[in-house]
Amino acid sequence: MTKCLSILGSTGSIGTQSLDVAERLGMRVCCLTAHSNDRLLEEQARKYQPHTVALVDEAAAKRLRLALRDTSIRVLSGMEGVCVCAADDEADTVLTSVVGMAGLQPTLCAIEAKKKIALANKETLVAGGALVTRKAKENGVELLPVDSEHSAIFQSLQGMRRKEELKSIFLTASGGPFFGKTKEELRRVTVKEALRHPNWSMGAKITVDSATMMNKGLELIEAVWLFGVRPDQIEVVVHRESVVHSAVEFVDNSVIAQLGVPDMRIPIQYALTFPARCPSPVKKLSLPDYGKLTFSRPDEDTFRCIALCRGAIERGGLYPCIANGANEEANALFRQGKIGFLDIADLVEGALEAVESKETYALQDVFDADAAARAYVRAHISKFGIPNSQ
Ligand code: NDP
Ligand code: MG
Repeated sequence: MTKCLSILGSTGSIGTQSLDVAERLGMRVCCLTAHSNDRLLEEQARKYQPHTVALVDEAAAKRLRLALRDTSIRVLSGMEGVCVCAADDEADTVLTSVVGMAGLQPTLCAIEAKKKIALANKETLVAGGALVTRKAKENGVELLPVDSEHSAIFQSLQGMRRKEELKSIFLTASGGPFFGKTKEELRRVTVKEALRHPNWSMGAKITVDSATMMNKGLELIEAVWLFGVRPDQIEVVVHRESVVHSAVEFVDNSVIAQLGVPDMRIPIQYALTFPARCPSPVKKLSLPDYGKLTFSRPDEDTFRCIALCRGAIERGGLYPCIANGANEEANALFRQGKIGFLDIADLVEGALEAVESKETYALQDVFDADAAARAYVRAHISKFGIPNSQ
């Protein structure tokens, strides 16, 4: 059970919910970090009294230092400041809820400092899975999943005696706001429509990833690293209601799943209290109210990102990092109205073909492959679709 918690990315959707969970559980907050939202970080600092906070953006950090000058809270800046927070002596657990592979370096710092990692930041594991899992093993550090599907898998695996008993994983997907749409219809969707998720309220980047189903592709890669399974042992299942958060199948064909209302505070709390369970304010699940739960196969011809990610992890090396980097860039360009919705998958595919990978890699190789994938996307956008009409 966590006693003192640091949160990287405390001003985001997962970060704010994590503070809520930590407060209810009476956990102490050590350090908080964000990118540039000095206003919210100031509010959080005053309320939760961390001893140190950090902002990546120097100008925002300067403003925050001024705003908090009547307190003893230390304000750091830059990625170095975030890494100092990640490795802070006092915390026993670091919750990583930075968006994107920008979370990789501070996550590695936290692992080196032997902190338990409550991991929401999936891009970190996608881009640098071999580095993160190797470092975690070397330092005897647990990676506790916060992502709801991975928490469900992790919960369903409690009690498994030997790894050989696990046969496969059913990774559930809501299907996002564009479930059932044809490619022709998707060509014209707007940013506003992509940001309207049916079941979850999340940050903008992951909401668009859910619409393209890139999120499920990233989660497939995340599951390979977290649970040590092969990509072909993971089946993506569309489950519109988001009640069954994922399931595992054992060698005797028995399937165990974790269910609950769609509320991230359940997986966040489990990662913080593991192996204990504590009461939570989350609504109770009423199965009769749902009446029926539905399951189907994803339309991978239309939502191409799932297959692209599966291909990337099967090829191994830096291909997952390339897919992730290209997607981060394309996702942002789509949100800026500079490319169309379907261009995202085309650009990820193009980057996977054009950017060179390496079988084994060090941290600098990850940064280089990420930069090359982003550069590929920026160099090719003029070739792609008509900018979105908002
Ligand atoms: P948000 O966009 O809501 O929050 C992102 C957080 O990261 C903010 O605190 C932001 O600071 C900070 N941040 C952004 N860019 C950087 C950077 N370059 N360096 C350091 N910090 C940065 O994202 P979410 O909370 O939705 O998602 C966070 C992670 O959790 C993602 O990896 C996502 O895939 C994963 N996740 C999210 C779920 C959800 O329900 N939201 C569910 C499952 C997983 P600032 O506010 O200053 O910009
Ligand atoms: Mg998820």
